[in-house]
Amino acid sequence: MTTTLEFFGHVIGGVEVPSLDGARFDTVNPWTRQAWAEVALGSRADAEAAVTAARQAFDEGPWPRMGYGERQRLLHRLAAAMEDNADELAAADSRDMGKPLNQCHHDVARAAMNFRFFADHAKMATAEALPMDTGHHAYTRFEAAGVVVAIAPWNFPLMLESWKVAPALAWGNTVVLKPAEDTPTSATIMARLALEAGLPPGVLNVVHGYGADSVGAALTEDPRVDRITFTGETGTGKIISRAASANLTPVSLELGGKNCNIVFADAELDNAVHWSIQSIFRNAGQICLSGSRLFVERPILDAFLEKFVASAEAMRIGDPLNTETDFGPLASEEHFHKVKGYIDTVEQWGGRILSGGVGEGWQVKPTVLVDMPLDSPHVTEEIFGPVVIIHPFDTEDEVIALANESDYGLDAQVFTENLHTAHRVSARLQVGTVWVNCFFIRDLRAPFGGVGSSGVGREGGNFSREFFTEPKAVVMQINARPA
Ligand code: NAD
Repeated sequence: MTTTLEFFGHVIGGVEVPSLDGARFDTVNPWTRQAWAEVALGSRADAEAAVTAARQAFDEGPWPRMGYGERQRLLHRLAAAMEDNADELAAADSRDMGKPLNQCHHDVARAAMNFRFFADHAKMATAEALPMDTGHHAYTRFEAAGVVVAIAPWNFPLMLESWKVAPALAWGNTVVLKPAEDTPTSATIMARLALEAGLPPGVLNVVHGYGADSVGAALTEDPRVDRITFTGETGTGKIISRAASANLTPVSLELGGKNCNIVFADAELDNAVHWSIQSIFRNAGQICLSGSRLFVERPILDAFLEKFVASAEAMRIGDPLNTETDFGPLASEEHFHKVKGYIDTVEQWGGRILSGGVGEGWQVKPTVLVDMPLDSPHVTEEIFGPVVIIHPFDTEDEVIALANESDYGLDAQVFTENLHTAHRVSARLQVGTVWVNCFFIRDLRAPFGGVGSSGVGREGGNFSREFFTEPKAVVMQINARPA
């Protein structure tokens, strides 16, 4: 018996459509390793059609001409629709990438919050007025930039897509979203909900397909595009940066990480273990922010390892759609082989697997490595899986040097009960975010981004406003003679 798989199309100009050439691809559930849905496979022509629709909606449509209040109302309706359809959205992400369902529900809630936050922020973030000594008055207008291309990775599909789409729309831009090919379906559902919520046609377009030499390349090379916001690998970021520079298109790049997690001897041990586990094993380690280089001050190393390994081994591995599961398979066969490659070479490098290793199917269990040489690829490269390298340290200066010894600089975690240590170390770390005694807590007003190979630019609150608008200065004479 053949079953027909559910189909997810592009959404272009307010209509869900197949590809112009009719091509499709299967999206595979990493737990069953079976196709669960069919998706339109776009080509350069579909990407161009999506940019045409977004361009037209920006140049001629009502969206950029609406008041902030009207856009706010519609984006709140979209947020409410996403909450009402949370089960469908969460299941789509879970099936596409194998992320446990309860984590996907968290992502949907965050995605809805992104729309609410940026809708309100755009309404409230009024510009400063600058009374001048000369009898003039200056003020800033934040004008929509135009057509925004948003290119997303597969590890937090809906959440990261909304992180880009929400501020872009709130500031009056129109958007072409390209989800990752491994996790396409929730984007189509979101775009369907946006139309139902009343967003005009062409305001939010979704085009599916591959990146290099295909949809992604076409979108980033298109001179009709005004902003490109990208999250993904550092190597891809460099390619996109080169493509964008040909048209002088501004880019925001949120890239990879090889983040350090520093546990001082005075840390509250259970708290440090809890957040360190979350940091590296949540979403099976497929988080750009993961604390994959874990430095523990020597006096507490044994006590820390004992509790950390016990917690890692207690994680409930299983079917991501089961709400009891907190650890699923890796997102794709290709990614499984990449992560497995690092595990296969641990002993060759003189290291030891203290716990974990490769499991069934596309599974890598929570894996703890010790004795890894600091120049091994396990320590220097982003594995992007549930693999942590634990290393002792003796002094603050030593651990700061180790932490900063990386091309990446996305985030860091610091565990200490000493306020002075916390502030001093936070200041010395060359990263975009520092979490002290916690992990993954976000304030959407705060800057988010990385230094070095972890990215270019910041998003969040006013930082998103700067990127998604063209700020314009207006200087007006209000008094012929200075008062
Ligand atoms: P990736 O770079 O392979 O793909 C990301 C997106 O770019 C996909 O949609 C892909 O189709 C597209 N793409 C690929 N080549 C392209 C090209 N030449 N032109 C245009 N688009 C192209 O990344 P991934 O494997 O999906 O995601 C994992 C990476 O993302 C990791 O490195 C991770 O650290 C990073 N990441 C960073 C953040 C952050 O906020 N800094 C957040 C999540 C993930």
